[in-house]
Amino acid sequence: MSINTCSIRNYNTLTYVLLFANISNMRYTFKDFKAEYPDDQACLLSVLENRFGDTCPKCGVVGVKFHPITGRQGFVCSECDKHIYPLAETIFRKSSTSLWNWFYAIYLFSVSKNGVSAKELERHLGVTYKTAWRMAKQIRKLMEDDTDTFTGTVEMDETYVGGRKKGQGVGRGTKNKTPIFGIVERGGSVKAVVAPSLTHKTVKPIIRDQVSIEAVVNTDYFHLYKKLIPDMGYEHQRINHSAGQYGIGETHTNTIEGYWSQLKNSIRGTYHMVSPKYLQTYVNEFSFRYNYRALPICPILLERAAKLS
Ligand SMILES: [Zn+2]
Repeated sequence: MSINTCSIRNYNTLTYVLLFANISNMRYTFKDFKAEYPDDQACLLSVLENRFGDTCPKCGVVGVKFHPITGRQGFVCSECDKHIYPLAETIFRKSSTSLWNWFYAIYLFSVSKNGVSAKELERHLGVTYKTAWRMAKQIRKLMEDDTDTFTGTVEMDETYVGGRKKGQGVGRGTKNKTPIFGIVERGGSVKAVVAPSLTHKTVKPIIRDQVSIEAVVNTDYFHLYKKLIPDMGYEHQRINHSAGQYGIGETHTNTIEGYWSQLKNSIRGTYHMVSPKYLQTYVNEFSFRYNYRALPICPILLERAAKLS
């Protein structure tokens, strides 16, 4: 895939980063994946290495060798002879699905831009829908938010998803919809939180937690931000969307709005309907993709999978 650098300048920042994300993830191809993980044993070794390196968790000796136990998903330590089972306490534990299938599912998530539905997983892996759904839920857990404090120029905005009933079309109202509050650092990461409601009380702790006091905050004219942002001590720049303004110099919320449109398209296109109960995990999935857009995310997910349960 070759890209004319002149044409890139015509894209807005978000299109550029999404384009870039696709290219960098395309670098880790299925061929690469298959070469690195040809079978279950290669996957098991990778979990062992990601989890313990060359330090035995039983005797604590560094530089040990782990010898595979035939017929079991375990190893024997060369120093203390104790048995080590690297899948214990991970998302792979006690699963009837093969470890390679788990790795393949993680790979599919890593190369997808719009998410992977349980239906697609069922088809790709040849497992039941129930198993696929459970696997997808576990894989999404690996994409939990780990953002640092935002600084520089920050944009805040809110959006609403769901709530559409059959035959009603896409309404513009917010009735029955779930609010999501989002903050993005320009050129950096995003944090998006499903909120029970959008009030000073619900968003203030999120902002305080996430945004450095030195940051310049951009919002639209929504009443929620008018007093709150300056009262919290931030420099506040506002853009009046209802007056048809979409950007005055550096004052705009186009980055967070680009993120919302990607999120909503993906939820609509891949997942169709997401219940409020699980919405945050889907939002985390897309934030994770956005935040790691410059890196191939398959190795990051596999490393997390070896560590989190
Ligand atoms: Zn040992």
